[in-house]
Amino acid sequence: MTRATGGGSYDYVVVGAGPAGCVVAARLAEDPGTRVLLVEAGGPVRGLFLRMPAALPYVYQRSSIQWGYQSGPEPHLGGRSIDEKAGKLVGGSSSINAMIFNRGNPMDYDGWARLGLPEWSYAHCLPYFRRMETFEDGADDWRGGEGPLRVGRNRAEHTLFETFLRSGEQAGCTVTPDHNGFRQEGLHIAQSFIHVGLRWNAERAYLRPALGRPNLELLTGAAAEKVVVDGGRASGVVVSGRGGRRTVVCDREVVLSAGAYNSPKLLLLSGIGDTGELRRHGIRSSPTCPPSGATWRTTPASTSSSPPATRTRSPRSSACSAAPGSARAGCSPGRVSAPATCSRPARSCAPGTASRTPTCSTSSCPSPGGCRAGSSCPYRDSSSGWTCPARSAGAR
Ligand SMILES: Cc1cc2nc3c(=O)[nH]c(=O)nc-3n(C[C@H](O)[C@H](O)[C@H](O)COP(=O)(O)OP(=O)(O)OC[C@H]3O[C@@H](n4cnc5c(N)ncnc54)[C@H](O)[C@@H]3O)c2cc1C
Repeated sequence: MTRATGGGSYDYVVVGAGPAGCVVAARLAEDPGTRVLLVEAGGPVRGLFLRMPAALPYVYQRSSIQWGYQSGPEPHLGGRSIDEKAGKLVGGSSSINAMIFNRGNPMDYDGWARLGLPEWSYAHCLPYFRRMETFEDGADDWRGGEGPLRVGRNRAEHTLFETFLRSGEQAGCTVTPDHNGFRQEGLHIAQSFIHVGLRWNAERAYLRPALGRPNLELLTGAAAEKVVVDGGRASGVVVSGRGGRRTVVCDREVVLSAGAYNSPKLLLLSGIGDTGELRRHGIRSSPTCPPSGATWRTTPASTSSSPPATRTRSPRSSACSAAPGSARAGCSPGRVSAPATCSRPARSCAPGTASRTPTCSTSSCPSPGGCRAGSSCPYRDSSSGWTCPARSAGAR
């Protein structure tokens, strides 16, 4: 592993060696003419437990590799403070997390696109999802077969797993063969980034192979304290660690990938953010900067379960596949439903309960590059008769 002192000269300084930082640093360093420094506050990944998936409970509880954040008193939890876990080591939280591989619901991505982030639409993201992974079942229109992140199906060999899936089916739920593929919704066996018995974290997938390059250096045990801003341009980072405090200078860009808590915090410490907030803490602000981290949301470190009626639905499962006689107005089995208006709850919803997913989001085709006449559309569901609206309209 290349160790750095941070004393060289760099084009890019990437702060935080979590998944985001590992990917960005490795990709930037693919250009041999570019010098990249990756700065990480925590230490390297050492010891069997950090490699061994079954040791998760120990890793999860180890305070020396975490930031130890607690939320403030939560008004909706009787004033309780919640443990907010965040990994402080190379690989970031991917070195301590549960390794579950879930892409997320296409409707969420399309929702972000509608809010003004077109590059977050599912159609735009899908090629990147495919590129990042090697799925153990091989590649198809949805899954990747050549990426650095190894994704496998969890070994669920005990007969009770099968019994659970079948009983779910009998209760009216769908069983999806690949929840990271064509249809997210449905009962399934989990997938995870575990390969040959090892945690396949971001360090192993992205950083480790790239550290052989002479133009990429990793500086561990070095916490960034602030970004140096000169004339409106980020020109370096102040870091402190074993060698004391110093400024690492960079010629091109500073990339903040210090996680959901620390990236906004670093911006604020650098005078970038809400002026009122900065004034309150005696920090001189750079003018014209939007608030930083203000709309942040998280999942608390606790377990919860959703009743079937609140499950979200993938675009495919928004097709009308009701049993004859049970379909609601405007939605008959075997026919293409009007995507923007179909409000039938998923089959798994209990009769009479409301679905939290009121509308289908099938108006944009999530297949890579959109539909083309004559091409096979992964968003066509022959079993229910649902067809991608872009395709049926002869679009693109
Ligand atoms: C307990 C837990 C369980 C999870 N389970 C799953 C799961 O099963 N599946 C899944 O997909 N996701 C899971 N996640 C979420 C997933 O791990 C995160 O989404 C992901 O790690 C975020 O990556 P990141 O690079 O944005 O940030 P992080 O992983 O937070 O990485 C940020 C890095 O920056 C470093 N850093 C922070 N501040 C500084 C600084 N000032 N100077 C230098 N370095 C700094 C940190 O030490 C860290 O290494 C889990 C997360 C947690 C905490």
